[in-house]
Amino acid sequence: MGLKIYLNGKWVDASEAKVSIYDHGLLYGDGVFEGIRSYDGLVFKLKEHIDRLYESAHTILLKIPMTKKEMIRAVVETLRINRLNAAYIRLVVTRGVGDLGLDPRKCEKPTVFIIADKIVLYPQRIYQEGMEIVTVPTPRNLPEALNPQIKSLNYLNNILAKIEAINAGVEEALMLSAHGYVAECTGENIFIVRRGSLVTPPPYAGILKGITRACVMELASKSRIPVSEDMLTRHDLYNAQECFLTGTAAEIAPIVRIDGRVIGDGKPGKLTLRLMRDFRKVTQTAGVRYKK
Ligand code: PMP
Repeated sequence: MGLKIYLNGKWVDASEAKVSIYDHGLLYGDGVFEGIRSYDGLVFKLKEHIDRLYESAHTILLKIPMTKKEMIRAVVETLRINRLNAAYIRLVVTRGVGDLGLDPRKCEKPTVFIIADKIVLYPQRIYQEGMEIVTVPTPRNLPEALNPQIKSLNYLNNILAKIEAINAGVEEALMLSAHGYVAECTGENIFIVRRGSLVTPPPYAGILKGITRACVMELASKSRIPVSEDMLTRHDLYNAQECFLTGTAAEIAPIVRIDGRVIGDGKPGKLTLRLMRDFRKVTQTAGVRYKK
């Protein structure tokens, strides 16, 4: 039996889970999404992800045809039906089926689907040895043009950066703002350790306010590690004691080389390793339980 997908109120086999070629999610990237993780029968930060999804939808005037409560139930039920102990959950709401014009008024009913599956972003060894990244030529979208808090189906900006990283022979890209400040990676936020403090770019650098980012900042505060938001340059990164990225799919991944510069002593740093341990602990103990 294959995976069951939630599609517009029903659970269907993955092979039957189809959307129209007239769906504006496909034609224009007109829609929003979330990536959520579950660990050991617990959905991590579910409320935060659902809130962010509804905020993204609200800003693009997309009315999600179900309440947050119903959406939470649909996510939990998708995990139960598929008997998944640990999963990556992709929740997508598109503008729905319309005609070939942009006009969203032609789309009567949003399309909602939920996939619960697995995800592997990077080779496992990078979590032990650390990862190399490079700055890519494509800058992060101008936040004045497209607010990065809208987690929309338009990911070409990030995909172009990912292609540039792959072309350079590495797994991940460092994206700068149009002014040349450090923004984020293609689907992850970035942190450095500087003089014993954790520093990460502020939202106005044009980044998504990641849920993992917020969790790591909270974990650090609880451990009395100073945390701040600051505009960062590549020079700041090259000379950092430690560097790592954070994201729902990536979790916490150490970075040990940027544009050929070795970061710290070229190994995952002490604070990074500690936060990775703390993060693992919190994912295995906190969350919405869906398995008895
Ligand atoms: N930045 C971008 C552009 C992303 O797509 C993501 C992944 N959703 C992140 C950062 C990390 O956010 P989160 O920790 O909420 O997954």
